[in-house]
Amino acid sequence: MGKIFVEIDGNNPRYVCTDCANCTSTFGTSLCSVKDRGCCFYFPEFSLLDIQRMVKTLEGLIVLDTILKHPGTVVQPYSIQTKGFFDKSLYDDYLKKGKLQDFKDIRDLTIFFRACPFVKSGHGCTIPPRYRNVICNTFICEELLSASDNLETIKLYMEERSRYARWVEWENAALKHILMENNVNLVSYFNASVRILQEIPLSEYQFPELDPVMTMYDDDGSWSRGA
Ligand code: SF4
Ligand code: SF4
Repeated sequence: MGKIFVEIDGNNPRYVCTDCANCTSTFGTSLCSVKDRGCCFYFPEFSLLDIQRMVKTLEGLIVLDTILKHPGTVVQPYSIQTKGFFDKSLYDDYLKKGKLQDFKDIRDLTIFFRACPFVKSGHGCTIPPRYRNVICNTFICEELLSASDNLETIKLYMEERSRYARWVEWENAALKHILMENNVNLVSYFNASVRILQEIPLSEYQFPELDPVMTMYDDDGSWSRGA
C-alpha cells in the first residue's frame, strides 16, 4: 500500500507517490539501457516561470547552469528544452520484430526507449522539486490513479492540477510579455532576460490542501486496480 500526497517545495507544488520508487506501471517500463527510471522518459521543457524560480537563488542558478551545459539543451526565446537519451536502433529493431504487441494501447511507443537526461537510474530526478516543471511535478499515471482507494479525492487532484497548470500558463504569458516589452528574449539577450526575471517578484500560488490518498499495491508488485 502506498500514498499519494501534495508536497510544496519553495512554493512549487508537486504530487508525490510513495509507489513510484518501485514503479511497475506499464508507463514506467524501460526497454532501453536506462532502467529504474519510472516514467522519466520525458524530455523536459523549462518555462519562463521555472527559469525565474531558478534564477532567484544560488542553488537554482547552479541547476540552470547544469541544464544549460547539457549537450541536448536548446535555448528557445521563451523556454529551455533538453533532449535526453533515445535508443532509436533498439526501437527500430523491436518494431521490425513485432516485439511491442503487448503495448498496442500506447500511442507513442518510443517512450520505452527514452530517458530524461536528469534521471538517475534507481534514484529518480536530480533536479530539486522546486525547479521542476508542472508536468514533472504533477504527473500521475493512469495505473496509479486507478489503484487509489478514493476516486473522489483523486478527481480533486486532477482538477487542481488543471487549475494550477492554467495559472502556470498565465504566469508564463505574463513573463513573456514583460520580456517582449523590454525587447529581449532568452536567445537574443540571455543575461538581460535573466536579470529581468530576477527583478520581477515571484508570483505565489496558494495550492489547496488535499487529503492524502492511499493506493492498493500488492506485495507481489502488481497493482490492485479500482476502488
Ligand atoms: S507515476 Fe506511474 S509510471 Fe510514473 S513512476 Fe509513478 S508509478 Fe511509475
Ligand atoms: S526533469 Fe526530473 S522529474 Fe522531469 S522527467 Fe526529468 S528526471 Fe523526471
